[in-house]
Amino acid sequence: MHTKGSARSKQKSQTILASTLYLVPTPIGNLSDITFRAVEVLKGVDLIACEDTRTTGRLCDQFDIDTPRTSFHAHNEHRKTAALIEKIKAGSSIALVSDAGSPGISDPGYLIVREAVAAGIDVVPLPGPSALIPAITASGLPTDRFVFEGFLPQKKGRIKRLTALQEEERTTILYEAPHRIVKLLKQIDEVLGSDRYVVVARELTKRYEEFSRGKVSHVLEQFAGRDRVRGELVVMIAGAEYVESIQP
Ligand code: SAM
Repeated sequence: MHTKGSARSKQKSQTILASTLYLVPTPIGNLSDITFRAVEVLKGVDLIACEDTRTTGRLCDQFDIDTPRTSFHAHNEHRKTAALIEKIKAGSSIALVSDAGSPGISDPGYLIVREAVAAGIDVVPLPGPSALIPAITASGLPTDRFVFEGFLPQKKGRIKRLTALQEEERTTILYEAPHRIVKLLKQIDEVLGSDRYVVVARELTKRYEEFSRGKVSHVLEQFAGRDRVRGELVVMIAGAEYVESIQP
């Protein structure tokens, strides 16, 4: 018997499981990067726990999601984790999102996932946007093995963390704020040598997306010469044994 519409066009809508914590990545700039499944889960859960309810509110408006939201950020995650775990245990399905990208990646998430796992709660991760993967895949640096270092400490401990990378053979990925990029490149130059190859990915998925590649001395010169660096940045450092095959 034939039914209207092909099997391919009839995608089953997502079944939302009770007593479950969903981890839902959101776009890092380009709203079209949200997945169909992310929208379905955000529509279907009982509650969305979000870093900034206004930021997530704008995303929800865009995709007609009217699920109740509650705040869950670096300053209240310890206090709110227990309450959210209790809600899930009582049968609620909760989606965790951050302002952008994947929750738990340089964003709140680890604590509640750890507690959910300890409580025997099902944790369902959705694949989706995160800055580090598009950054490294387009960097031109080896992608077979890499280390994600997140943000270096803002003040003390930066040099120690960079010194630990002197012999690192894998590509290292760092997140950095625009007002600290010149400082970071200077520190890489000092600690790892001016010939170390780096790639800086700026404003991924956005209008002014840009990759700066080359020896750190060269990339530093580029950034130091700008009036002000704007936007969001991922910094990748080539491994200690890396030999560049093509000059930028
Ligand atoms: N959870 C996010 C993820 O999965 O990538 C990361 C959140 S962290 C608070 C924000 C940092 O991620 C920024 O400072 C920057 O280093 C990086 N980032 C986020 N969006 C970016 C973008 N569009 N382009 C480049 N880097 C970005």
